[in-house]
Amino acid sequence: MSDLDPYARIAERALRDEAPSAAEARWILDGDDVELLPLLHAAYVPRRRHFGNKVMVHFLNNVQNGLCPEDCGYCSQNRDSRATIQKYAMKGEAEILAEAEHAARGRQPLLHGALGPRPDPRSHAPPRRDRAQGEGALADRGLPLRRAAR
Ligand code: SF4
Repeated sequence: MSDLDPYARIAERALRDEAPSAAEARWILDGDDVELLPLLHAAYVPRRRHFGNKVMVHFLNNVQNGLCPEDCGYCSQNRDSRATIQKYAMKGEAEILAEAEHAARGRQPLLHGALGPRPDPRSHAPPRRDRAQGEGALADRGLPLRRAAR
C-alpha cells in the first residue's frame, strides 16, 4: 500500500498511463469524502506532464441551429425555445464544405453538429445517405474527418 493520499496515488499512476482501479473509479463517482479541488489537481498532474498549459480550441459550428424538432425544455436548440440564439435551417453542402476547408486551412478543429437525438423523418438532420456523401466530399478535398461518438 502506498503512503500517498488517494488523489496523489491516482495522479502518480496516471503518469504511468495506468487507469484508476475499479474501486478508485467508484470512489471518485460515489465517495462521500471526495473533494473536488484535490481531484481536479490529480487530473491536472498528467495533463501538465503531457500538454503543459497548451489548450486546443474546438469550434462547434451547427449545420442547423435552433430548430430541433424535439422538445427538450432545457435546451436552447429546441425549436420552441425563446433563447436568443440565431436560428437557421440546414446549411447547404457548399457552405458546409467551405467552412470545413476554412477551418482546415487554419488548422482549427471544427465540429459540425446536426441536432436531434437520432435520424428521424421529423428531424432536419441529414439522412445517412447524405451524410455519407458529405463525408465523401470532405475526403475528396483531403479534409480530415473524425466522427463523434454517439
Ligand atoms: S434533441 Fe438535443 S438538440 Fe434537440 S432539443 Fe433535445 S437536447 Fe436539444
